[in-house]
Amino acid sequence: MPEDLLKHIDRLIQQRPVCKEALESYRELAGLMKKVQPETQKIRFEERLKDMKKDEGFPLFSREDLPVDFHASSQLFAQFIEHLSNTERKDRDGLIKVLEKSKSDSGWTVNLFKTVLRKNDKTLSKTGKEVDLDPRTLNFLALAALSPSLHALQDVISDRIDKEQWNYGYCPVCGSEPDMAYFAKTGKRYLHCELCGQEWAYPRLKCPFCQNEEHETLGYFDVKGEEGFRVDFCRKCQRYLKTLDKRVFEETAPMELENLASIHLDVLANEHGFK
Ligand SMILES: [Zn+2]
Ligand SMILES: [Zn+2]
Repeated sequence: MPEDLLKHIDRLIQQRPVCKEALESYRELAGLMKKVQPETQKIRFEERLKDMKKDEGFPLFSREDLPVDFHASSQLFAQFIEHLSNTERKDRDGLIKVLEKSKSDSGWTVNLFKTVLRKNDKTLSKTGKEVDLDPRTLNFLALAALSPSLHALQDVISDRIDKEQWNYGYCPVCGSEPDMAYFAKTGKRYLHCELCGQEWAYPRLKCPFCQNEEHETLGYFDVKGEEGFRVDFCRKCQRYLKTLDKRVFEETAPMELENLASIHLDVLANEHGFK
């Protein structure tokens, strides 16, 4: 985990009061994440890297075969649930059911991780119904529990893949879509993976979701009072991507936090009809 995660969260809580609630909940979990030490040694990267067919656009792994440490992630997940079910949350009953499930069936949490990794919304909503918990909460907690393991993976892998030459709209490591973009100090655009956090260069005037390059159907809107942020959109596929301009800020947080601290822009993009 980035050492200064908590420091960034505290700074963002001050700077973006509109996202205070989401950031404060994440802060509680981040305190627990810090203590986890996932295993990454078992991954045989060299063989994978040799096989990586960059020119054919094959990512290193698929989402479901990412070498994450399910054991460490399950333990962390249990800690999250224990912690949250002791707070005054409206969904406390659901959390207690999750706790019971995960204690009585050791495979329950791993199955949840697999569902989330596969992005299997149907199974996720079924699981949510079983335990009376919003599937989005389950998804969020599962991803947060996997996060230290995904960070550890990224630490091992990041310097060994060519992020500048990967010209696809999906992640070179796990094949996921980007959840955010940023402009580096050089003005170059980078995309940030929604799952493993990898970042890679991508043309500024191209939609990563449908590869549209027609200027007339690509655009962005700025948000009043949110200097340094914009929402890029594509009228061809109706998707959007939030973009952080790092040239505007003296200091920025890891992208996963910038994403969390700008959820009001997602609401705005949805109101504009983008998804
Ligand atoms: Zn990825
Ligand atoms: Zn598009």
